[in-house]
Amino acid sequence: RAKESGRNTFALYKPEMQAVSDARLEMEKALHHATEFKLFELYYQPQTNDKNQLIGAEALIRWKDEQKGFISPATFIPVAEEIGLIVEIGHWVLNEALSQVAIWLKEGKWDLSWRMSINVSPIQFQQASFLPMLKTQLEKHDVPARCVDLEITENMLLNDLTSSLEKMNAIKAMGIHLSIDDFGTGYSSLKYLKSLPIDRLKIDQSFVRDLLTDKSDEAIVHAVIAMAKALKISVLAEGVETLSHYDRLREIDCFYYQGYYFGHPLPPKEFIAEFVHD
Ligand code: C2E
Ligand code: MG
Ligand code: MG
Ligand code: MG
Repeated sequence: RAKESGRNTFALYKPEMQAVSDARLEMEKALHHATEFKLFELYYQPQTNDKNQLIGAEALIRWKDEQKGFISPATFIPVAEEIGLIVEIGHWVLNEALSQVAIWLKEGKWDLSWRMSINVSPIQFQQASFLPMLKTQLEKHDVPARCVDLEITENMLLNDLTSSLEKMNAIKAMGIHLSIDDFGTGYSSLKYLKSLPIDRLKIDQSFVRDLLTDKSDEAIVHAVIAMAKALKISVLAEGVETLSHYDRLREIDCFYYQGYYFGHPLPPKEFIAEFVHD
């Protein structure tokens, strides 16, 4: 500690910095514990088309800490990535989401045309074990590949494009769908986009939020939709919160949506009760 090293040295750590690193260490410990004892849950958020029909759901991880309550994945996923735990967590997510689809298929509550969208961290995707793991999981749960959609981010393509491309092609060959999540916020180049086996772009919610008031956002969304159409890639808008968002998106030919206007992420039973009708 700086303060033990004598009067004339710099204090490298201020008390508030110490507090930050204590909190960080505490979160790492709690994450290890949560991963070991599988203390996570998956919530499901509906994805719909312009006829207000369900086209699938996104599985979103939830972690309820005993003391702190719900901790946002936007907070703990980056930590899990840094300490490598994301590989194990991602494996749990895939297993859980596929076992849920298998149950719903058996119960007649999941249509074969619907897709379960699963977020995949770049670090998870880069593992040599990722493809074999994916195959094993599909076989184990006996879920048709076309019911699965993997959400990856643009930045993943920054590291080792060739091997990423090979992996993506192998995933496509299995029949699994691929989406680019948070599209527009990363570093992907349009040159790559045309050669990637991508089914869908998910336009990041930051462009959708002010769609009605910000002309630049509207222009960007419009341009993405036009480009995707030319590349025969479908576009889904994230963060659709109001009827006016929905109306404007339809006007500019965006036909797939996800957001609070259609439904919040919910635990499995609530998801079925609210969005699946027989
Ligand atoms: P994402 O994949 O872009 O997921 C969409 C996020 O937007 C979710 O936040 C969702 O609850 C939220 N959202 C949905 N509709 C609306 C809306 O209309 N308005 C607003 N303001 N927000 C909306 P969530 O569940 O907190 O997840 C945050 C991020 O954490 C995700 O962003 C994803 O990057 C990551 N994440 C979540 N689950 C997983 C997972 O299982 N694995 C990995 N690797 N990352 C995950
Ligand atoms: Mg996502
Ligand atoms: Mg997103
Ligand atoms: Mg994201």
